[in-house]
Amino acid sequence: MIRINEHFTKLKASYLFADIAKRVNAYVAANPDKPVIRLGIGDVTEPLPPVCIAALHAATEEMAHRATFKGYGPEQGYAFLREAIAQHDFKALGAHVEPDEVFISDGSKCDVANIQEIFAADTRLAIPDPVYPVYVDTNVMAGRTGANADGRYTGITYLDSTAANGYVPAPPATPADLIYLCFPNNPTGAVATRAQLAAWVAYARKNNAIILYDAAYESYVRTPGIPRSIYEIEGARDVAIEFRSYSKLAGFTGLRCAYTVVPKNLKARDASGAEHAVHALWNRRHTTKFNGVSYPVQKAAAAIYTPAGQAQTRGLTDFYLGNAKLIREAVTKLGLTCIGGDNAPYLWVNTGRDSWEFFDLLLNQAQVVTTPGAGFGKCGEGHVRISAFNSRENVTLALARIAAALK
Ligand code: PLP
Repeated sequence: MIRINEHFTKLKASYLFADIAKRVNAYVAANPDKPVIRLGIGDVTEPLPPVCIAALHAATEEMAHRATFKGYGPEQGYAFLREAIAQHDFKALGAHVEPDEVFISDGSKCDVANIQEIFAADTRLAIPDPVYPVYVDTNVMAGRTGANADGRYTGITYLDSTAANGYVPAPPATPADLIYLCFPNNPTGAVATRAQLAAWVAYARKNNAIILYDAAYESYVRTPGIPRSIYEIEGARDVAIEFRSYSKLAGFTGLRCAYTVVPKNLKARDASGAEHAVHALWNRRHTTKFNGVSYPVQKAAAAIYTPAGQAQTRGLTDFYLGNAKLIREAVTKLGLTCIGGDNAPYLWVNTGRDSWEFFDLLLNQAQVVTTPGAGFGKCGEGHVRISAFNSRENVTLALARIAAALK
């Protein structure tokens, strides 16, 4: 009989957001007259920027005529978008990225999930805790870990992100081969300084390791001097892959477009010790298993780099950061401590009690959905993540209800 990949059976019973949905659905079914406000899942609420809508219409019109119709495009993405990215997202920061080092995709979730398959089965992993669950689960599926015991998988070096280290872990004392970092962080909203990232680059260089740098929220960085890209750090091109997404920058969660940068000088070895260009491996993987992002969507992404697109996307991220500021002020006024919200759309609130208990309290007493920190890892216990992705009206109402519930 056909057998399953048994590594899947090691995964914790259900996905965090499925657990949350179950509790919220049960509450809504029992209380149909009490509408809930969702500050849980990190999905955007505001519509696409007008430049993107105009680009989508124009590209659709091109698809309507034989002379301008487009079939399959290059799997790695159209040159017009890859060139705009290299210029605006990196050269403008003083970072060096070539257009052909950019791989356009339909989302960072797929990219951060898929990248691990080009590395060896016995790759030693270093993964933060709390963490975006995709990094851990995809390595469990690939068989790089043992069983889950007491909330942690054996075979992973967990990088604790706690109040004690300002939620930014330092490199561990032991060597690792593949390191996942995410700044601005989901779920904590913490950002890493130049010196902190430089320590990670130095560690990776010393250990011949690779950093997978998830910069899905870079467009929320406002504090001057905080790096937006790992490639702002000297030497990072030799040791880092960076992931970027248009989801939170321009509201593309439903449109789908992102990209991954793999520098051509990034090397990894085979069992014999021979060096291989990681770029060539990822190119092979990407072109074999992915058939490109649609032309209209890539045109919409390229429109973000026009002056009007820059102004409109800045308006969007400023709007969500405005929500985050209100949440931060309200939470602090209630005597709770938190981080995040200044360079990220998430706030990481110290609950002073079990995180699912606090989640249930806010759901039942305030009809507000948050995300229990324990769902992001052991170090998430005692915290909830509050997302700033909602309308101003809903955020204001949610904060009033939370204040009343916690009084
Ligand atoms: N990386 C992080 C840290 C995220 O929080 C998310 C989405 O919430 C993603 C990646 C996925 O982004 P995308 O919509 O491009 O798949």
